[in-house]
Amino acid sequence: MPIRLEKVNYTYQPNSPFQSEALHDIDLVIREGDFVGLIGHTGSGKSTLAQHFNGLLKPTGGRVFVDDWEITAKNAPLKKIREKVGLVFQYPEHQLFEDTVYQEIAFGVKNLGLAKELIEKRVRKALEMVHLPYEDYCNASPFALSGGEKRRVAIASVLAMEPTYLILDEPMAGLDPRGRREIMEQIKELHEAGLTVILISHSMDDVAQLTKRLIVMHQGRIVFDDDTRHVFTHYARLQELGLDIPTVTKLVLALRSKGWKLREDIFTVEEAKEEILKALREESKQC
Ligand code: ADP
Ligand code: MG
Repeated sequence: MPIRLEKVNYTYQPNSPFQSEALHDIDLVIREGDFVGLIGHTGSGKSTLAQHFNGLLKPTGGRVFVDDWEITAKNAPLKKIREKVGLVFQYPEHQLFEDTVYQEIAFGVKNLGLAKELIEKRVRKALEMVHLPYEDYCNASPFALSGGEKRRVAIASVLAMEPTYLILDEPMAGLDPRGRREIMEQIKELHEAGLTVILISHSMDDVAQLTKRLIVMHQGRIVFDDDTRHVFTHYARLQELGLDIPTVTKLVLALRSKGWKLREDIFTVEEAKEEILKALREESKQC
């Protein structure tokens, strides 16, 4: 069952001098099993959109459905919806507040009214999913952890709710290269384990490596919603929107301009390697 948005509009502080329209006529369906990238310049509306997927924000116009529930209805079961649609905020470590990692991850689960053993089971499983050994971390203070570890604890606290959908708002932002790689690997694993993932990012390299479908936003509107590879073929339009193309694609285009016979739809390092080796082999045959 999908998440479905119909003609969703959102205006911050309506009818005030500070009124600003953040979303305009958004139509969108996210199906179970999808791995969707959501990309756009700062201020394009990504975070505002993400908060509509689990009812944290209610649209000022239009409708939002999660499975059979209509979030916009008066009697919408928001608690159930937030269990099903997990949202990891940007810089989630700013919201860590418990004394231990265990308490931090158990916090949301406790509200589900589960028995103590079941809570512990969920905390164990969630820590396992982000590769933090339970025995080493359960009594640690979240504040004593590294930047990447804090982020993983924050992700685990959402995973402990056993959501169907996982929305990650810029999960790699501000981490060092190793932290970024680890989080990327884990997001990939979570999708392979069956979670539907919506990854917000402003890095083309990250979405190129991970996602199958890409939604591009600009000034509160969706400008592309297509196969990730297909979106990247619109170089000129993306550049107009202030977005880059993957670094490796830039390299391939630069080599093409110097006469190399390479395909232009190359978006990952692996593909580039294969294509460059193929071109070199062809060249050596001709000599
Ligand atoms: P993104 O996540 O793509 O950077 P946001 O959804 O945060 O974009 O912002 C979309 C627009 O809404 C921007 O113009 C931003 O200034 C505005 N906005 C975001 N949050 C608020 C807020 N709390 N109050 C007023 N305007 C906001
Ligand atoms: Mg944002």
